[in-house]
Amino acid sequence: MSNYSIPYGKQDITEADIAAVVEALKSDYLTTGPRVEEFEVKFAEYIGAEYAVAVANGTAALHLCALALGVEPGKRVITTPITFSASANCVRYCGGEVWFADIDPETLTLDIDRVRELIESKPAGFFAGIIPVDFAGYPVDLEAFRKLADEHGLWIIEDACHAPGGWFTDSKGEQQWCGNGNYADLAIFSFHPVKHIASGEGGMITTNNRELYERLSMLRTHGITRDRGNLRYPDHGGWYMEMQQLGYNYRIPDILCALGTSQLSRAKAGMQRRQEIAQRYDEAFQGAPGILKAHGVPASDIRHAFHLYVIEVADRRGLYDYLREQNIYAQVHYVPVHTMPYYQDIGYNEADLSRSEEYYAGGLSLPMYPTLTEEEQDHVIAHVKAFIGG
Ligand SMILES: *Cc1c(COP(=O)(O)O)cnc(C)c1O
Repeated sequence: MSNYSIPYGKQDITEADIAAVVEALKSDYLTTGPRVEEFEVKFAEYIGAEYAVAVANGTAALHLCALALGVEPGKRVITTPITFSASANCVRYCGGEVWFADIDPETLTLDIDRVRELIESKPAGFFAGIIPVDFAGYPVDLEAFRKLADEHGLWIIEDACHAPGGWFTDSKGEQQWCGNGNYADLAIFSFHPVKHIASGEGGMITTNNRELYERLSMLRTHGITRDRGNLRYPDHGGWYMEMQQLGYNYRIPDILCALGTSQLSRAKAGMQRRQEIAQRYDEAFQGAPGILKAHGVPASDIRHAFHLYVIEVADRRGLYDYLREQNIYAQVHYVPVHTMPYYQDIGYNEADLSRSEEYYAGGLSLPMYPTLTEEEQDHVIAHVKAFIGG
């Protein structure tokens, strides 16, 4: 018996967050106002990208990226099965085809060798792009993916929903923050409450490409522009605005950007806590009997953002159920996307995805969020050990 109820992830809302939202509510803007741009500028600064476009959610961000890069029927895009389905669905929204490549069992991210094999098994021009995912917060080596993409004329959308604040070190010894736009054409983030920065619903696209930035800004709001210098028919009058492409209403409200900006100001502290929690899980689980793998703190030239701390065990269902009985709500990320009935029904490539399926058989995400206390974490560790040890 215990009084704990511990989810796998949880937002942290402070008095300062609440005050920021109240201030927005009292201002002249509820939808698109100054707080949208403030959030974009500060977020871009945080991760080191030139441009950012805030949107309604991470899925909308993915959809707009696919549109902006010209996904349409006949275009084929490669992604990982170990991700939230939206990483693949964005290709389908535009009528494109999703091809899956298997993961590296150590990093749980897209295996570049498998991607290369898939590309090279087809004629030149067969694929249009790659969507790598910084799964659990592990930063994908995008320098290597950029090289591969350039060899074959592909674009890259980095799904960095799990990894704001994560980075890898490139061949010049420089830290490359997830989503900074140095290697991927576009990157996307989500501000769903289980992610690092919560705005309720919310998403962000980042890029260093000015042309893509401008296209995305228009697509976010119906494909409409009021920019006088950019009108096909500039002579109508002051009221005139022009719809130049088929866009959507994927805007994010000012109210939510107020919350996002306030949360962003604590992102560094939150990342620090996630590192400490991961370190403590490592001490408990690395090499422990019954733990097949603990996906913990990697080599020092990488900063894992630890959206999730994932272990692999033999009896995952047993452990999951046992923890639930203790009110510890561990979670599974993810049911491989290619096994979803929708993708089974439309058919996908017959690549060997056995590593993804093996990972799925044993993977479990343990509670990981900045306000998880040491006492709560000890409680989680004790129960995991009680189950697998006994
Ligand atoms: C959360 C998430 C998304 C979708 O974001 P939403 O804001 O929920 O639409 C996409 N990809 C990954 C990897 C995610 O974790």
